[in-house]
Amino acid sequence: MAPKQLLDIQTIYLEAAVESFPRGREILAKHPEAERVGVPSHWKIPSLHGNEGSAEDWLRIKRDVLVLGVKKSLSMRPNGRSSHFIAPSTSNGCAMACAYCYVPRRKGYANPISVFVNIEEICRAIGRHSERQGALSLADQIDPAHWVYDLGENGDLAVDAAISDNVKDLVALFRGLPNAKGSFATKFVNPDLLGYDPQGKTRIRFSLMPERVAKVVDVRTSPVAQRIAAVDEFVRAGYEVHLNFSPVIVYEGWEDDYRRLFQQVDETLSAEAKQQLRAEIIFLTHNEQLHDVNMQWHPKAEEDYLWRPDLQQVKRSEGGMRNLRYKVAWKQQWVARFQELLAHALPYCGIRYAF
Ligand code: SF4
Repeated sequence: MAPKQLLDIQTIYLEAAVESFPRGREILAKHPEAERVGVPSHWKIPSLHGNEGSAEDWLRIKRDVLVLGVKKSLSMRPNGRSSHFIAPSTSNGCAMACAYCYVPRRKGYANPISVFVNIEEICRAIGRHSERQGALSLADQIDPAHWVYDLGENGDLAVDAAISDNVKDLVALFRGLPNAKGSFATKFVNPDLLGYDPQGKTRIRFSLMPERVAKVVDVRTSPVAQRIAAVDEFVRAGYEVHLNFSPVIVYEGWEDDYRRLFQQVDETLSAEAKQQLRAEIIFLTHNEQLHDVNMQWHPKAEEDYLWRPDLQQVKRSEGGMRNLRYKVAWKQQWVARFQELLAHALPYCGIRYAF
């Protein structure tokens, strides 16, 4: 799907302060025809958020609506898996609509992209934080030499790059930070990013799963074959490119499908891309409330792949959500099996973590 099909902004909800930021004015100038609706906070827009009843409108809202706001909290949070730190988000929400996506769980269910326009403050906060860290003293699974900051916890930055230069600014920031690297996962191939000149200081993690499953659950994303084909181009453009096998979904025949997927990766990637390749593996965690909402607009994803109470067990989250994970004993075996298959098919691809 091209950025133009993914986004066709008709309505912009905005906080009053947005127009006092250059990025806010730039974005508004790109959409002179869009209706503007003032809101007290990007975080609470009753007609959009928390409105499970509008499930059938989800996709239209994701395409037609943009929210502009100012990011208040500029603190870094420790991570430890994909990154050392989670940077303050430059956006929240997504124009794609993966059926398993956890972002709507916190934001309410219709969650179009909210872009934060105080990008200069966000970049300054990351820069100051990285300065305080000094050099990374010990290589770890996250990175051998740099502190890694996750930039895309609450959305997909490759799509955000179609809206504004926020992502370009982040890539430029990390290019200049001697001890730090930016990182984000994506399911969208946006060729605009190829011109950002990251000089090895931004890591893109392309998310992959077997195509026939992605066709059902990865709604509005780039086809898996296109994501695999993009790896070489992004490496040539100066990105570090890793693979994000997430979520891994278990169903009849999953092992064979992953074998084929690994083979496709092996046949497509250049020696240069293979040499720098690493992977992270995350098995599906589903959620009961999300299941109920999905049943209103996309029951096939639930029935065919996501909702498997025979294989899953409930674990109540701190926030009171009923999450479903694969039963522990089985999951351990599947995680080990997945790693075996990957190591056999792509022996050059180190596994950063798997769970
Ligand atoms: S691409 Fe990521 S953020 Fe967007 S809907 Fe899919 S899982 Fe959610």
